[in-house]
Formats: sequence, C-alpha cells, structure tokens
Amino acid sequence: MSYVITPPATVSVPVVGSQQRFPVGRIYCVGRNYVAHAQEMGFTGREPPFYFIKPSDTCLVVEPGQTASMHYPSLTKDLHHEIELVAAIGIGGKNIKAADAKKHIWGYGVGLDMTRRDLQGEQKKLGRPWCIGKTFDEAAIMGPITPAAQAGDVDKAEIWLQVNGKDRQRSDVTKLIWNIGEIIEHLTTAWELRPGDLIYTGTPEGVAAVVAGDTMTGGVSGLAPISVKVI
Ligand code: MN
Repeated sequence: MSYVITPPATVSVPVVGSQQRFPVGRIYCVGRNYVAHAQEMGFTGREPPFYFIKPSDTCLVVEPGQTASMHYPSLTKDLHHEIELVAAIGIGGKNIKAADAKKHIWGYGVGLDMTRRDLQGEQKKLGRPWCIGKTFDEAAIMGPITPAAQAGDVDKAEIWLQVNGKDRQRSDVTKLIWNIGEIIEHLTTAWELRPGDLIYTGTPEGVAAVVAGDTMTGGVSGLAPISVKVI
C-alpha cells in the first residue's frame, strides 16, 4: 500500500509493567456523571448518560514518572481541569450488557478531560455542539494504563487532583451516577466499541481554571498517577 500523503501516526499510551503500549482508537467522554459536579454545572437529578468524542490525536500522553507539558490552548481564558477514571477497551462489541462489561476492559488509567469552559458555556447558551470547548490539541490527557487484573477495585477508588500541591478535586468512584458497566451498556447501544477505545467516565466536583505555570497532579488509587505542567 502506498499513500498520497504520510498516514497519521498511531497514538499510544504506556502500559504499567510492560514495554508494550496500548494503541488509542476513539476517546468517548461521559458528561456530568457525578452528582456534585452536575450541581456545580447547574443541573440536578439523574439524567441518562450523554457523550462527546475527542479524536485520538488530541491525546497528550503522560509517560511513567514524567511530567508532561500541555500548551495553554488558543481562544480561551478559562481552561478547566477535569480529573477522570478512564477505562481502556480490549475487546470490542455492541449491545454489551452491564454484567458483561468488565470482560471488555483491558485496563484502567488516569485522564484529564481538559475543557475551554468559557467556549463550552457560549455553545451551551446557543444550543450548539460543545466541540470547540471540549476538543482541541492536547485536550485529552492520558496516563499509563494498568492492566485490569492489577488495578485493584477501581469502582471503589479515591479520585483526586491537585494544582501546585493543593487539593482541587477529591472524591470517590463509588459516587459515579452511572457506573462503568452501566456506561458501557448504554454507550454500546449507540456505538460499537472497538479495541483501543478509551472511555473517560466523568469528573467529580471541584473543576476550576489553570494558567500557564501551574502543575496538575492527579490520581485514582491503585493506578499510576499523572503530572502535567501547563506552559
Ligand atoms: Mn469530563
């Protein structure tokens, strides 16, 4: 096969305890999936899960033990962090039942769903897609993936984010409105999951702005933490 232009490179994420890497397909993100975060965004009550997608080449990969650099994006004056537990899909499928969902998960990692909140807010008011607020270069930060068997009980893990060493977000994965199995059941009625897909499961309360010079460190207990400096 020869191409008329150079094909895009495969984006890949390191795997804890391995030299092999996890290749990234689609990046699905779940909106408002912790009650206290839904409330801080002005919503109440349990609503069906909803999604947006970030292309794989918007992924900023954090290598083990390193601090990644994120370039402050254009157009915004309100860049927000959203720390999230991320499920990495190893076996695809559609119409997957919640009870079977874990069989499809290869591993878990810590991600940041970076958001141009001011642009997202403008689009919400206009009833337009969130694309410009959610999707931009380096908007999907992803740390090393821990194989599911070594990840401990992620459904009961603490999730946290600090900026310059001070707590911004601290919660627990038990507080997810829709748990990982329920997300996969619902999501796969709409799309066929494929090996390599990532699912960002939503962020707890405490989302706020970062500026150039800030360092974000975040984690989910049992998984490799991440560190990212905004430049
Ligand atoms: Mn999010």
